[in-house]
Amino acid sequence: MSEPEIAGTVAALRETFDRGVTKPYRFRVAQLKALRAMLTERGNDLADALHQDLGKSATEAQISEVSIVTGEIRHTLRHLRSWLKPQRVGVPAVVMPARASIVREPLGVTLIIAPWNYPVQLLLAPLVGAIAAGDAAVLKPSELAPATSAALARLIPQYLDRRAYVVIEGAIPETTELLAQRFDHIFYTGNGAVGRIVMAAAANNLTPVTLELGGKSPVYVDDTVDLAQAADRIAWGKFMNAGQTCVAPDYLLATPDVAARLEPLLADAVHRFYGDDPRTSADYGRIINERQFDRLQPLLGDGSVVVGGAHDRDERYIAPTVLSGVGADAPIMQQEIFGPILPIITVSGLDEAIRVIRAGDKPLALYVFTSSAAARRRFLTQTSSGAIGFGVPAAHLAVAGLPFGGVGESGMGAYHGEHSIDTFSHRKAVLTKPLAPDTMGLVYPPFTERKKGIVRRLMG
Ligand code: NAD
Repeated sequence: MSEPEIAGTVAALRETFDRGVTKPYRFRVAQLKALRAMLTERGNDLADALHQDLGKSATEAQISEVSIVTGEIRHTLRHLRSWLKPQRVGVPAVVMPARASIVREPLGVTLIIAPWNYPVQLLLAPLVGAIAAGDAAVLKPSELAPATSAALARLIPQYLDRRAYVVIEGAIPETTELLAQRFDHIFYTGNGAVGRIVMAAAANNLTPVTLELGGKSPVYVDDTVDLAQAADRIAWGKFMNAGQTCVAPDYLLATPDVAARLEPLLADAVHRFYGDDPRTSADYGRIINERQFDRLQPLLGDGSVVVGGAHDRDERYIAPTVLSGVGADAPIMQQEIFGPILPIITVSGLDEAIRVIRAGDKPLALYVFTSSAAARRRFLTQTSSGAIGFGVPAAHLAVAGLPFGGVGESGMGAYHGEHSIDTFSHRKAVLTKPLAPDTMGLVYPPFTERKKGIVRRLMG
């Protein structure tokens, strides 16, 4: 799309919004149902595209992409009417008689920019919020997942109202041009460097942003849990989508004793999940492109291989890999891994684990495997992260009632369920005070001694 076409598209969406097309409750419900129909009727098209881009298996695509969006739609359809009801709040004596309430009003035209790793979920789950809130939206899928981008650009206009929701495909030039337009909200998912570009562009129009970023999400395991079960869950969260998951466990912290016991269990989990040669497993994905492969491959040398280590650039294949004996200052610990390599860092215990976590940026998620309530409380109160998962990685994002988002370097703002409505709406304060009886005399000048006395008593 050329620059004038992009500007024209955004202007047309604004006209749609200004005419009130997207606001009626029935319109929102119809669009949400149409989106659900697209996912059920054309799920195969999307699964094929995800397989082309990421080697994702159809079942993994269903679990980690489509069903997250359909779950959001189901939850939203169930609760939308009550979420949109004005929320009454109390009125202080000095303002009485009056009625006060909060009304959610749609923001207007929103821009949703998605990354390549969950290219269906991360474009459409925010869209559920935008539709539910009554907004119009431009959707910008990632050019790095080209088959999925093309499929979404083809399917969305077949199902959703084209006057209100438009897909604009493209890379940096198109996104830059989009960011030059005035939006009422920008919802960006991706890396922090581009997050800064998005926020700087948004500042020109004082446009609010939601930034769903990444970072290194740690896992801590102690000896009070069933280590075999912990290993299975960690391997599942890490190696799904070949490790290219924003909430994947990035690195594992454990005492030398727990680490030594976990290592064979992690290796065993990998063998059971993906067989002796994961390259031949239909359930194991591929690295998105050569650039990411070339970034990841050298990191395989940052420790001793417990399991995995094999790689093949032509196939963009890196085996599910666990590394032991990794130093806290190794290159793999200086960046978000975002690939199927799990380094194990040994610590002396909980105190040091908390120190390591606090020394890094605030992560998107922290996972703790312990049966000690005291240890859980310490992680909860002494570390900061977008989310904390006790006993399971990544699954919090399937709970529509929980806000999904980061803090600090892992992002700002949140969505899912009612939190999406908050993100994509303005909470308007509404105060209604009858003209009679007129109780305002007290605050009108002149302030006589009698009034001053009453003011001191009532407002002091
Ligand atoms: P990406 O390269 O696909 O970029 C994301 C989007 O930004 C794309 O639509 C792209 O076109 C656009 N973009 C890229 N460069 C741009 C520029 N210079 N100006 C304007 N727009 C630009 O994806 P990515 O950033 O590699 O995604 C991976 C990162 O995203 C990881 O850090 C990961 O942790 C994070 N992530 C976070 C979440 C979350 O929900 N918090 C989910 C997935 C991924």
